[in-house]
Amino acid sequence: AHLDRIAAVEPKVNAFLHVDAETTLAQARRVDERRAAGEELGPLAGVPIAHKDVFTTADMPTTAGSKILEGWRPPYDATVTRRLREAGLVILGKTNLDEFAMGSSTENSAYGPTRNPWDLSRIPGGSSGGSSAAVAAYQAPLSTGTDTGGSIRQPAAVTGIVGMKPTYGGSSRYGLIAFASSLDTPGPFARDVMDAALLHEAFSGHDAMDSTSIDAPVPSVVEAARQGDVAGLRIGVVKEFGGEGYQAGVLARFHETVELLENLGAKVVEVSCPSFTTALPAYYLIAPSECSSNLARFDAMRYGLRVGDDGTRSAEEVMALTRAAGFGPEVKRRIILGTYALSSGYYDAYYGQAQKVRTLIARDFQAAFQQVDVLVSPTTPTTAFPIGERADDPMAMYLADLCTIPSNLAGNAAISVPCGLADEDGLPVGLQIMAPVLGDDRCYRVGAAVER
Ligand code: GLN
Repeated sequence: AHLDRIAAVEPKVNAFLHVDAETTLAQARRVDERRAAGEELGPLAGVPIAHKDVFTTADMPTTAGSKILEGWRPPYDATVTRRLREAGLVILGKTNLDEFAMGSSTENSAYGPTRNPWDLSRIPGGSSGGSSAAVAAYQAPLSTGTDTGGSIRQPAAVTGIVGMKPTYGGSSRYGLIAFASSLDTPGPFARDVMDAALLHEAFSGHDAMDSTSIDAPVPSVVEAARQGDVAGLRIGVVKEFGGEGYQAGVLARFHETVELLENLGAKVVEVSCPSFTTALPAYYLIAPSECSSNLARFDAMRYGLRVGDDGTRSAEEVMALTRAAGFGPEVKRRIILGTYALSSGYYDAYYGQAQKVRTLIARDFQAAFQQVDVLVSPTTPTTAFPIGERADDPMAMYLADLCTIPSNLAGNAAISVPCGLADEDGLPVGLQIMAPVLGDDRCYRVGAAVER
């Protein structure tokens, strides 16, 4: 049924980069066989899922939305991929994304933009826009994403679904094509909080193949989603988020939802996190710096594309031609920015300074979580914007992640859950719930209360 649905709406939505009905049906049959053989499978066995095309898959191509990886077949499965298979989930295909997960609209994909199922002239968020659109368009009940600066939560918010960024190190990066390694975090998308919790538990947890993986038990997020009550919980409203630059309809739904939580028995207080206002510039130094190093591996020798290798050119020339042809403009912008920020003479002024800001943000969170159990804010300042509107204005595009970036810099857990439609345009609004490191269960508990 989901393959049929994909065939019907995909020409309009463009959520997928790769769909292969045969591979999908073979996976489904394998689940039946395992069940028939008496294997005990989890609650998601046999459920189809759309998988972001930044995780390696041994039976499907993996492009990261880039021409430089066109046609590349990974030799191995990412840990997240492997765990999906072990849990018996059936992978429908690989979803579209901003090239190397750099963007907030999926317009930076080398394979054309994905469209928002609510309004096809608008963006589905990014970078995991194919994954959010696939779930919102009923092409898949579940999907995977990665969140480096907001790439799960912002697409979830603008397509009216649930998207969770687990605690950094709570889900494995092994086999995830790296953007900014100190920030990249795999997480689930679903149409409701319980489904997201089930998927979260299916693929998260310690992985010896990822040196930053946390060796601690995953908080029981399914139990928290089932509980879904906020009586007695202390909820902090981040004072710095809201006001100028925020759409009125987004703020209206946000304040109503806070009121709802108060009516459900939560104690709501305003909390100040003064360093959060400096998170965006710090992120746009740290993330490009890490990406400039990570993307050095695309050297025309190891993977995918190779341009100009006709026997007359040096390795350096082939490398330069390949990278010029294979990377899109946003990726080049970030490599240049990151290389500059890391160069000797500028390192302390830019990268060093940004790292200090990162520490201040983590301290703001620590202080806030002394007073409250969770923090809330709008997920993103506006509803889905029109395709093309911010494409030539990187600064306007970067503002989409204003509220999500602090949790990436500090590594704590954060979720986006739907909280109604904005009056101006009838488009979905997301509530962001932020919890301490390894407090992922609190995100689900409060999220489930909002949903009810
Ligand atoms: N939009 C942010 C960026 O462009 C975040 C992307 C992400 O989380 N992968 O870097």
